[in-house]
Amino acid sequence: MMNAVIQSTLSNIAIIFFMHLCMVEILNNENRLTPSFAQIGRIIVISSSVIGMFYLPIQYGEYRFDLRLIPLVFFSVRWGWELAIPTLLITALWRLVLGGEGSVPGVVFGMILPVFVALVYRSIQGAGLHPVSIVFLFTIGWFISDIPIIIFVPDGWSVFKEIFLVRYASYVLTALLLCLFIVNAERDRRVKKKLQYDADHDPLTGLYNIRYFQKAVKAFTKSTKQMFIVMIDVDRFKTINDTYGHVTGDLVLKGVSNVIAEVAYAYDANNVVVGRYGGEEFILFLAVDQKETMVSLVEAVRERVETSSFYTEKGTHLLKVTVSIGVSQMTDCKMFQKAVEQADKSLYDSKKNGRNQTNYARDI
Ligand code: GH3
Ligand code: MG
Ligand code: MG
Repeated sequence: MMNAVIQSTLSNIAIIFFMHLCMVEILNNENRLTPSFAQIGRIIVISSSVIGMFYLPIQYGEYRFDLRLIPLVFFSVRWGWELAIPTLLITALWRLVLGGEGSVPGVVFGMILPVFVALVYRSIQGAGLHPVSIVFLFTIGWFISDIPIIIFVPDGWSVFKEIFLVRYASYVLTALLLCLFIVNAERDRRVKKKLQYDADHDPLTGLYNIRYFQKAVKAFTKSTKQMFIVMIDVDRFKTINDTYGHVTGDLVLKGVSNVIAEVAYAYDANNVVVGRYGGEEFILFLAVDQKETMVSLVEAVRERVETSSFYTEKGTHLLKVTVSIGVSQMTDCKMFQKAVEQADKSLYDSKKNGRNQTNYARDI
């Protein structure tokens, strides 16, 4: 008898950790899935692992034992009733259809009541899982699901005595391990997200860096709109640095980048990309239906910088911060470098002609 308990317990543990691997895959692909698809995926993964356990039970007479409690309780706490109710419905119905004498108490004591406790716990304590709360939750869960053995199984007390240690230890230890794995997986995911963010963004301004900018522009390869590259350079920025120091210089860069992003994204966030080219130079990509739209947007950027207020680190109002702009058209995303060079040339013309102005490449 004892061999059967251990064997099926180990099989159940294997199912639980396979389930965890599937859940990590969903977690890692969350940005590619819509929230409802991710939720459906989670429900399927948890339900199928619980159902899998139904087919690997320890059979004591008519009574079946498994570790169904672990996925059900765990993910009820983690994800709440939106996940717990559908999962419970699917798995409980499945268990009832499978039938057998132990099916009704198994569903009531091994599934519905522990999930209810888990949801109550979640509403009081939140979704965070601490090892102490795991021990607490699974002690209660084990108690609810295994005490009925004494009542419902013929000679239940001796059955309970024989298996309770393996049952209790496997609940608590597996749940603790699962908790550790989940916490690690979530931490890895956060670190990955942060690394990805840092790899794509400029730390000072929060704008895209030039590498990501280029990638984002490539997404417009098949666009039928007219595409423009706009180079924006802060005028006499070195003087600001030299007069007020680099901290103020950084503040001005942040301020200017905010203005550019605000104006550009307010126009059409789907057809605009804003990046920091480097130093005090910014780069804009615009996909528009008409050239006039581009001209008015570029003018709006220049004007808004000119009329915005910028301050030194000590709060002194900086009298004049302006930008010079150069624009080129890009007929094909493969011509990115060439378009940047042309916009840069036009920008140079703006500088030469007195700054705080926009020049367009000849073919625009
Ligand atoms: P122009 O009007 O011709 O563009 O003159 P400018 O002074 O703006 O141009 P220049 O290229 O001579 O100087 C740019 C300065 O920007 C030099 C560099 O030290 C400074 N700079 C570049 N990156 C940063 C940064 O991240 N923070 C600060 N504070 N300064 C920066
Ligand atoms: Mg410059
Ligand atoms: Mg400059």
